[in-house]
Amino acid sequence: MELLKGKVAVVTGGARGIGRAICLRLAEMGADVAVNYRKDSEELEALIKEIEGKGVRAFKAQGDVSIFEDAKNMINKVNEFFGSVDILVNNAGITKDGLLLRMKEEDFDKVIQVNLKGVFNCTRHVSPIMIKQRSGKIVNISSVVGISGNAGQVNYSAAKAGIIGVTKSVAKELASRGITVNAVAPGFIKTSMTEVLPEKSKNATLSTIPLKRFGMPEDVANVVCFLASPQADYVTGQVINVDGGMLM
Ligand code: NAD
Repeated sequence: MELLKGKVAVVTGGARGIGRAICLRLAEMGADVAVNYRKDSEELEALIKEIEGKGVRAFKAQGDVSIFEDAKNMINKVNEFFGSVDILVNNAGITKDGLLLRMKEEDFDKVIQVNLKGVFNCTRHVSPIMIKQRSGKIVNISSVVGISGNAGQVNYSAAKAGIIGVTKSVAKELASRGITVNAVAPGFIKTSMTEVLPEKSKNATLSTIPLKRFGMPEDVANVVCFLASPQADYVTGQVINVDGGMLM
């Protein structure tokens, strides 16, 4: 069912991992997809071809979401190319883990700048476009650690908790304009972000997951695309955990 036919979506940090799976799912549902990225790569070129192979249009939307003007130019270029922006998925994110006692100031600032300020920047610049259209769907990628906290991730969990605050506040501000804003909080998903973690810590995490497996990027993409579709028209300001039951 092509629930998103004729819609235009932007996915930040879309070239790999969870973002890539979201781009492909959106395309399967009929949306034209703008893939935001910082630097050109083979994986980006391959993804663009794969999206086009699903019979929709694709656009390479370069820009560092942590920079206010970059985010503005990026969103405006997508709007000029396609003529609208109906869906924004704020997915771009980084980690710079370390225990509080050893965490450098720049590692705290950088994670907040990309993961939290990036969400503000893109949301801020897409909102005039969606308000004018009187419709739009914004889906933010938070994390279960934004709810539970996590040793070694003071910076990351602060940013991900902040995203929940942004989600609920913007949902309240933009509801009267026909715009919904929700967040998805993934648990442990198999991507390059989690690949680097030590085997011991992966096994410890696995033992806390009732469904007894790590999540796949597609598990997150399915929920994100539901929230971006008309099937979720009456859902706003919510956080949905996609974590195999890790956090209840
Ligand atoms: P990933 O590292 O594979 O992908 C992150 C993407 O963001 C990359 O394409 C990267 O280039 C891009 N990016 C980073 N900084 C950027 C910037 N300043 N501007 C534009 N793009 C930028 O990781 P992933 O696991 O696919 O993570 C995707 C999102 O899901 C992140 O927000 C992450 O925090 C969140 N998340 C992941 C997990 C997990 O277990 N993998 C769990 C919870 C939340």
